[in-house]
Order: sequence, then structure tokens, then C-alpha cells
Amino acid sequence: EQERLKAFKDQKAQTKDGYQVEVAGNMGNLKDVDPILANGGEGVGLFRSEFLYMDRNELPTEEEQFEVYKKATEKMGDRPLVIRTLDVGGDKELPYLDFPEEMNPFLGYRAIRVCLERDDIFKPQLRALLRAGLYGNIKIMFPMISSLDELLAAKAKVEEVKADLKAEGIDFNQNIDLGMMIEIPAAVMIADKLAKEVDFFSIGTNDLIQYTVAVDRMNEQIAEMHTPYHPAVLRLIKRTIEAGHAEDIWVGMCGEAAGEELLLPFLLGAGLDEFSMSAVSILKIKEILTKWDLDSAQKESAKILNLSTAAEVKAYLNKIKK
Ligand code: PEP
Ligand code: MG
Repeated sequence: EQERLKAFKDQKAQTKDGYQVEVAGNMGNLKDVDPILANGGEGVGLFRSEFLYMDRNELPTEEEQFEVYKKATEKMGDRPLVIRTLDVGGDKELPYLDFPEEMNPFLGYRAIRVCLERDDIFKPQLRALLRAGLYGNIKIMFPMISSLDELLAAKAKVEEVKADLKAEGIDFNQNIDLGMMIEIPAAVMIADKLAKEVDFFSIGTNDLIQYTVAVDRMNEQIAEMHTPYHPAVLRLIKRTIEAGHAEDIWVGMCGEAAGEELLLPFLLGAGLDEFSMSAVSILKIKEILTKWDLDSAQKESAKILNLSTAAEVKAYLNKIKK
């Protein structure tokens, strides 16, 4: 099977009728770049930068981060490398930042909320990203954006950091793309406003499902409810893509659902531009793409959006599976 799939490694990710999308990999560590390339990944849709901050006793320096981002982007060549700024909190704790205990860490002080208050954390990372952006095709992505104010504040930090670098005579990529994750339902509802302010969206279904259906993504007892097949989730995905396209930006997905074989016709037909997944899923998804044509995927997508329950959606996806 793996041998057969290798045939898709150097092929473009496209449908039977030649409609192209991007199939990319998710990474959490420098070591993950090679498997993504070996499996025919056309880019990295999510580099979780948390690993730089974990298993240590202090924040990583700008220089340490710069070296890692530079190495990663050099390995990727011209291919896009989306690096997400620190997404601490929730399920990702850092012992040396002694934040107060919270009743609901997933609804608490985390990710962009922390970074916007802590220049000592955010600015070295932004400096490292802007500088490393000279060596490849790095794009910066903000996690857990819930409002336009947060997005504008994050962008303002980038501008401050650019001005600092300029004043210090340090070279950096002036035109780096800025994007955001769509992983909170509030962001979907104002996606038309947010889309005017970024170069791309990436849908994080792991959290989007959690916050939409009110199901803790870590709780095994209710794990079955954490499903992308819930019609509410599918509608949020569709709405996000439409809002992005209305402003001519691309819309990707870097949550687990992007690599789900069953869901592919729905996402393809809904207009998703980029699918980012763990390296092991890339070849299989590329293969399934070649079995579909855009027109039939669009028709199926529209039908699926009219189904009423997750069970119906799953049964339907199984029926049309190729
Ligand atoms: C997501 O929430 O879907 C996502 C990709 O981010 P993470 O799993 O790192 O929270
Ligand atoms: Mg997330």
C-alpha cells in the first residue's frame, strides 16, 4: 500500500479534472520536516511553535528561535511554511510561566491573550520570524483569535517589531504574510471582517469543534461527540471559506479533520484551498483527490450541508466514498 501510494509523492495535489489544491503537513518539531517532504507535502500548513518552549526552564531566546525557523524554511525551499505563534495554555502548559490556576483552562488565559500582554514573550518570537522570513516562504499565523480587536492588536505588534528592527538596522522580510486560525465560533461569525485584515485563514477543527459543541477535546468519555460531522461544524467551515473567498484570501485547514479521508469530498466541494495534516496522511489524501472531480464534489458538498445529524452526514460520506 505505501509503495503504491509513493506514486503520488511528486504529483501535484489535484482532482481528476485538474483542479488544484495544496496538500501540506503539520509539524511540531524540526524533525518533522523530512517526513513531510518524503510524503510529498507541498508545504507546511501548521508549525506548532510550542516545542521550542517546552521541556526547559526559561523562554527560548530570539536567536534560538531564529535558528530553528531558518533551518525549517531552508529545508522547505520555496514551499510555504506557516508558523503559528505561541499557543500556550489550555492543554499546553509551561511550568516556568507561573500563571494562576484556572477553573477552565481552555476558556482561560492562553495563546494570543497571553502574547498580547507579554511583549517579553511575543516580541522575540515575532523578531525571529520576521528575520527568518528572509530565507524562505514563512507565513505567520496567530492562534485563538476571537475578535477583530485582538487581530488588530497582534498586527500592531508586528508593526512595532518591524519598526524596531528597522531602527536597529537588522534585515527582515518586510512583506511576510499574516494569517490567523479560525478555531472559535465567534471568529467564524465575524469572518467577513477578519478576512479584510489577513492574507489567509486556517481552520483549526480540533478547537473549533470543542468550542462549538461544548465538548472538551481531551475528554474520552464524550470523545464521540467531538466530531467534524456535526452539521453545525460543517456549516461553520463553509461559512469561513465563503467569507475568505469574498475577500480573495485562501482558506486552509490544519485541524485533524483536514486529513480525514471520509470528509475530503465535502471540504473539496466547499472550496477549501489548503489541507494540512500529519505527514502519514498526505499521500492517501492526494490519491483520493484524483478520484474526484470538482463539480461532483461541489454537488455532494451542497447536499451534505442540508443533512440534519452527524450520523446522517457520516452515513452519507460513507456512501459516496471512492
Ligand atoms: C486546532 O485547534 O485544530 C489546531 C490545529 O490547533 P491545536 O490542535 O494545536 O490546538
Ligand atoms: Mg487549536
